Amino acid sequence: MSYVIEGSTGPWEIVVGLEVHAQVISNSKLFSGASTLFGGEPNTHVSLIDAGFPGMLPVINRGCVAQAVRTGLGLKARINLESRFDRKNYFYADLPQGYQISQFAHPIIGEGKIEIELSDGSTREIGITRLHLEQDAGKLMHDQDPKRSFVDLNRAGVALMEIVSEPDIRTPEEAGAYLRKLRQILRYLGTCDGNMDEGSMRADVNVSVRKAGEPFRTRCEIKNVNSIRFVTQAIEIEAARQVEIWESGGEVDQETRLFDPGRGETRSLRSKEDAHDYRYFPDPDLLPLVIEQSWVDQLKACLPELPDEKRARLQKEYGITAYDAGVLVAEQAIADFYETVAKGRDGKSAAAWMTGDFFAALNRTGKSIEESPVGADKLGAMLDLIADGTINGKIAKEVLETMFETGEAPLEIVERKGLRQVTDTGAIEKAADEVLTKNADKLEQYLGGKDKLFGFFVGQVMKATQGKANPAMVNEILKKKIHG
Ligand code: ADP
Ligand code: MG
Repeated sequence: MSYVIEGSTGPWEIVVGLEVHAQVISNSKLFSGASTLFGGEPNTHVSLIDAGFPGMLPVINRGCVAQAVRTGLGLKARINLESRFDRKNYFYADLPQGYQISQFAHPIIGEGKIEIELSDGSTREIGITRLHLEQDAGKLMHDQDPKRSFVDLNRAGVALMEIVSEPDIRTPEEAGAYLRKLRQILRYLGTCDGNMDEGSMRADVNVSVRKAGEPFRTRCEIKNVNSIRFVTQAIEIEAARQVEIWESGGEVDQETRLFDPGRGETRSLRSKEDAHDYRYFPDPDLLPLVIEQSWVDQLKACLPELPDEKRARLQKEYGITAYDAGVLVAEQAIADFYETVAKGRDGKSAAAWMTGDFFAALNRTGKSIEESPVGADKLGAMLDLIADGTINGKIAKEVLETMFETGEAPLEIVERKGLRQVTDTGAIEKAADEVLTKNADKLEQYLGGKDKLFGFFVGQVMKATQGKANPAMVNEILKKKIHG
């Protein structure tokens, strides 16, 4: 989908590249055995290494390396069997070492790609430049004391994956789709929980603008944006700012900016630091990281089925649309639920019920699929009641609603409320006769050409049977009675 900013000198195109920091799911930190548990008392999950004591030796955590490799495989990326760790030097109160151990010239993961789906049904491929491992910093607490700030090092040394995209993104929508897809892949892999509001996934957003076909222009980097909505807003606002600068004859400076959602603006934080400002150099405490191809192969063999593959399989195996399949693979738990319901049943009707009334009921009750009061077995049992003619589709909606309220099995509800479908021809005929007699005037209009009234008769017969009549039989009987 094209997205252009109409300036006075013509249309401008947006160029975006994203750097995502994703906290690795791991019990212990990247170079120490300290716990990564969230929410502990300040400074209770800190080893001497994380606290930057002199003479401490970092030891690489094999589990974190495996998570990075698995993520690389999920991003269809090149796995570098040899990578290196560098020190990125800077001073900050939440960084006791005075440097961050990161990977600069030799990251563990090289080029990969992510396919994104857009709202018009089209897909695009966004290139991944690299993924590297690095340490997180601690956290400053400014709200504990009126005069002093404190530092909590619980997060210091926790493993992060920095995932850098190519400047392939062209619209705010694509940026959102990229982040959702990346988060989905990380969650399927179990390498990052993707919770942006808890800070375990955050994005630096690089934005520039250009006239179509031109080379790239100077970009600005908006730091630490912590929701997908804010990312799309920040891009729109920053791009508009840059267009205005270029059009008024100015120059965009390369700088780091902050997004202020409250004011709807980006603000300069500092002029862009260059790599040499950090005086990167190989960490002398760590050997190059060498991994075996056989280990990579082993990790690959144990990967779960990922969203793209799962979507293609569900489409093929259950005959459902790409759209429905996309909705159903949004989360692994939803896909599992769907497959339990659909197995041995009509996959299309299972998909229709899940994406329709079932999700609506979940939304209404504010529950996630894991907390659903109606399990896959019960939803499946309800589908069986429709398939074998015990209830019709309309009554099924009522049954499902009651299932959400009481947790009963569908058949129990049908018996208790007397909702069995009426397939007794005599009963339906009687109701049809009554409806036609009572509405003789409408019948005349219908016979005079007002075809739409047929639906009215059907509705009236359904009403007379409390919605329980078999709709196909009602149609057939009415036709026979009217047309002979
Ligand atoms: P660094 O931030 O360390 O300088 P890079 O120069 O490799 O790293 O770029 C970081 C991010 O900026 C990448 O995601 C890349 O896609 C993006 N980027 C690079 N050039 C541009 C540009 N002209 N416009 C928008 N994004 C860009
Ligand atoms: Mg950067």
